[in-house]
Amino acid sequence: MKQKSSSTPKFIVVTGGVISGLGKGIAAASIARLLSSKLKIVPIKCDGYLNTDPGTMNPIEHGEVFVLDDGGEVDMDFGHYERFIGCTAKFEWNLTMGKVFKRILEKERHGDYLGSTVQFIPHVTNEIKSMFHTIVEKEKADLALIEIGGTVGDLENQFYIEAVRQLKNEVGRDNILFIHLTYVPIPSGVNEQKTKPTQMSVKALNELGIEPDIIIGRCQEYLTQKIKEKISLYCNIDTDEVISGPDTNCVYEIPLIFENEGLVASLHKKLSIYSPPYLKEWRELVERIKKNISEPSRQTTIAICGKYTALEDSYASIIEALTHCGAQLDIKVNLKWVDTDEIEKGTVGPAEALEGIGGVIVPGGFGVRGVEGKITAIRYCRENNIPFLGICYGMQLAVVEYARNKCGIKEAHTAEAEADGKKVKNAVIDLLPEQKKIKDKGATMRLGGHDVIIKKGTLAHRILKADTVRRRFRHRYEVNPQYIQTLEKGGIIFSGCAGDKRIMQIMELEGHPYFVGCQFHPELTSRLEVPDPFFLHLVKNSLTPEKKGN
Ligand code: GLN
Repeated sequence: MKQKSSSTPKFIVVTGGVISGLGKGIAAASIARLLSSKLKIVPIKCDGYLNTDPGTMNPIEHGEVFVLDDGGEVDMDFGHYERFIGCTAKFEWNLTMGKVFKRILEKERHGDYLGSTVQFIPHVTNEIKSMFHTIVEKEKADLALIEIGGTVGDLENQFYIEAVRQLKNEVGRDNILFIHLTYVPIPSGVNEQKTKPTQMSVKALNELGIEPDIIIGRCQEYLTQKIKEKISLYCNIDTDEVISGPDTNCVYEIPLIFENEGLVASLHKKLSIYSPPYLKEWRELVERIKKNISEPSRQTTIAICGKYTALEDSYASIIEALTHCGAQLDIKVNLKWVDTDEIEKGTVGPAEALEGIGGVIVPGGFGVRGVEGKITAIRYCRENNIPFLGICYGMQLAVVEYARNKCGIKEAHTAEAEADGKKVKNAVIDLLPEQKKIKDKGATMRLGGHDVIIKKGTLAHRILKADTVRRRFRHRYEVNPQYIQTLEKGGIIFSGCAGDKRIMQIMELEGHPYFVGCQFHPELTSRLEVPDPFFLHLVKNSLTPEKKGN
């Protein structure tokens, strides 16, 4: 990120209207990206729920839990922020009502409010504003981009809205800008863009004391000039402050669309800032992705074998990492979702489930449901030379599979299965020693960025081209140190370990086109301009020789 300039910090607040799921996080990340060449930007996300963080939430309901370098478990929008701005975000930047209330209750017990009745206003709103100011000061930011979760009108986000309304009076009209992202439907049968939901949602925002400066209309298509004029008339803003947010098959195109729509010029003018977008390489990569979606010259299919396949949002960063590889290699990467429950139940066999697949990912996961199905899929990849990348649980289960079928440890398993009442005789994967005493579930895993020492002369060393890399972790279990020698004798190469050499962090196999497992989550640090090397090699190896070309 950039060096801070000396002027007063600016604030951009992004709210959402009408319905959820419009891609507010991507819109916010795109705006930040457009302004980040000369300004130090800090993205802040405000979530309304009472959990301290999403770490204990089911990814099917909430989407992927994104893990930061500092160990924070945060909303998946931070994945967009980091990928679009290239920043390393911090746990503090994700406000939740759980965090806000926890601080207030602690202060109350400590006696910080002695004499006062502690109230929603001003105490909750003051706490929220003070959290904003602390972040901006600590980061020496030029601009804070505050995204308020949910849609305007939701009760649980009302205090954030009230806090930013008050913030406007404190920092002055010239230093804060409100962007409202709404929905412009095209009802079937009518076949024209409709502005009424936008009008209603802007009205709801006005009632809360906020007048948006810019409205982004999410729609299947570009907003027509007529519709922009109508929104301008009803919502009290200039026509060129109504921006189209059309559907796109490539989220990385959004900053380019916003720029074309004149958003940057409006932001510069309204906030008296100047930070021209830098999008040259980005634009070329986006053009490649789009070309490959419509007319690919080469393509491959990667299977993701997991439990949460019902909701693609639970694997958001994996999908992005594969998109990055496709852009870099100039190919189309198709995805196939394989539900390992089905393989476990025997409804489909691995050969059928993985037919025509170029490579397989077994992603992170928890619990024992579908585990035997994953192990069957891993065995099939190992025995049939299908390129394989096991991530976290995927690596642990690759070790279990190898122990059972190549090292003669027939009853090898992960101790995680014991939680389900199974008796595990040979726990080749066991709890990390420091995890044994822990009872609480929230933020108690081994979390965040750690160094991985790479063994020279291994595939990992050739791919990563470094003796040490930093990657992000989220786990309770590890390869049981008591079995390492036996596993190595049986043929597993542990090519990456923790600094103290105790925790095995990468495994690989010789004599296979590509069989790699990692205890960390490489998808979290993959970028459009710099795809993660483990993903890149999986995708490269998934191309059959004639498709590989040069
Ligand atoms: N359940 C495994 C563990 O806790 C793997 C976790 C993961 O895949 N993120 O170690």
